[in-house]
Amino acid sequence: MRKTVSDLHAELVRYQLVAWTAGNVSGRIPGEDLFVIKPSGVSYDELTPEAMVVCDLDGNLVEGEHAPSSDTAAHAYVYRHLPEVGGVVHTHSTYASAWAARDEAIPCVLTAMADEFGGEIPVGPFALIGDDSIGQGIVKTLKGHRSPAVLMRNHGVFTIGKDPKAAVKAAVMCEDVARTVHISRQLGEPLPIPQADVDRLYDRYQNVYGQRSPR
Ligand SMILES: [Zn+2]
Repeated sequence: MRKTVSDLHAELVRYQLVAWTAGNVSGRIPGEDLFVIKPSGVSYDELTPEAMVVCDLDGNLVEGEHAPSSDTAAHAYVYRHLPEVGGVVHTHSTYASAWAARDEAIPCVLTAMADEFGGEIPVGPFALIGDDSIGQGIVKTLKGHRSPAVLMRNHGVFTIGKDPKAAVKAAVMCEDVARTVHISRQLGEPLPIPQADVDRLYDRYQNVYGQRSPR
């Protein structure tokens, strides 16, 4: 899991979702009340499996040379409250954060959004770092929602997945559709997809598409 999480940070860079050290990936260790997360303030090209840190579900450092990411409390809160989640990603990716700054959900106007997010990408509340407020906002918004991504108001993106790779994919797709819908807006008013079609697309993508491996 240290290697998986370490390697996935390179994807945040590859897809241009992060500037400096402002983004992080974590992964729950299967069968344990522990997760692996990025160390705080370490640049992406210096990340190695050994540099990653292990925390318990209260966000306490269990193993590692470095201090855990400053977003550790939010990741820990998500793992504590959403047992099906195996991976969490946080970024300030440009277009998605631009929507978050406006407190506006990204409307479902692309089939790719219906596939991956099952509808709009919702906005979560404004919350300051330092306690459980960010985690509470993420869980409150995503619990019972199809979307694996939430735009935290005035902040950025948090995504969840069955594993860290799925959460990274959601972060990449979130930025991609945030950009496209933004551009569409510049051209006029994007057309919503009827709910019945959103449901059909979501069901097909989640259950039929691909190699039939569990998502
Ligand atoms: Zn942040």
